[in-house]
This record gives sequence, structure tokens and C-alpha cells, in this order.
Amino acid sequence: MDSIKKLAELFGKFPGIGKRTAGRFVYYLINQPKENIDGLIAALQELKNAVKLCEFCFNPFENNGPLCGICQSPARSKNILCIVEKESDLLSIENTKKYTGLYFILGGTLTLRKSDGSHLRIEALKNRVKGGSFTEIIVALNPTPEGKSTSVLVERALKEGLGARVQGLGFKITHLAQGLPVGGELEYADEETLESAFEGRK
Ligand SMILES: [Zn+2]
Repeated sequence: MDSIKKLAELFGKFPGIGKRTAGRFVYYLINQPKENIDGLIAALQELKNAVKLCEFCFNPFENNGPLCGICQSPARSKNILCIVEKESDLLSIENTKKYTGLYFILGGTLTLRKSDGSHLRIEALKNRVKGGSFTEIIVALNPTPEGKSTSVLVERALKEGLGARVQGLGFKITHLAQGLPVGGELEYADEETLESAFEGRK
């Protein structure tokens, strides 16, 4: 395959990038001086070498140690856990500056093709919850059909693993309040909407 086609195909796999945009990226790069291309290659390699996934929440980070800045921070409440689908959802919630607990990134949702959930971090989630002292777990998945069916799966897993604690020790599972656009995604909600969905959770 020639290099133009090959690169266009690789860009075409990026989230939200169609064939036409992928082609534009390739022609943009063709017209760049060589040093810019070298800089891009170096940045890509550094990304893969320097960035790790947090051992607790799977948030990508670059500092030393096994935990990300959020999980390490003494200012964060260790009693609340917020389960999100992906990194950008965590970022949207962080941007509201209203949430002070911990996160867990599930790594996706159920889809028609992947409907058994084996691609999600369900087992890791059960372990985090078993090993933690959470009094509240917020299931903050997107209000899309995929997000909703994934919420059901997550809750079942939490309850299966921790049935006694859920009923016995005031451990509760909450959801974001209605108000997020139906079928919309957390990452596109404005801060105010997300903030009130968070504050009204039940
Ligand atoms: Zn973390």
C-alpha cells in the first residue's frame, strides 16, 4: 500500500475522524518541513513512553509512582467513587470542580458487537470496591442506550460482589440526575448542566 493511503487509513481509525478529514491530515503533513514531522514522531513516542495508566482508576498520567494525581491527593475523599466510561468524561466532571471523590474509568460501554462486557474493567472495578471503604458509588455513564445498558451491568456486578455491604452498611449506588440531554454525552454537556446533574444525583 502506498504511504499516503496507509497513513490516511491510520488517521481514519481515530475517534470522530472520517475519510475526508484523514486525507486532509495526510496532505497537511506532506506540506510540513521535515523538522516538524520529526517533532511529531518524537512527541508520539514520548507519549507512549511517559504516560502510564493509574493503577487504581486507569486515568493516564505522567508523574512518578503508581497512582495519578487525583488518587494521590490527600484532598480527595476516599469514600466516594465515580464510575465513568472514558477519560474525557472524567475530565468534564473535573472541570466542574464540584466533585472531590475518586474515579474509576470503565474503558467503554456495551455495544451491539461487544455485548458481554468482557472488554470492560468489571473485575478490576469489583476489586477496587471490595478493597475500598466507599459509602457512595456514582454510576456516571452517558445517558445513551449503550450507557444505560452498561449501567445495568455495572450495578449488577457491584451488587453481586458486595451484596451484604450494599444492604448492611449504608453503601449506596447513585446516578446522575436527569437533565443531561437524552442520548447526549457527558463530554459535550456544558459545565452548569453537568454540575446540576451531579448535585441532583440519587
Ligand atoms: Zn487514579
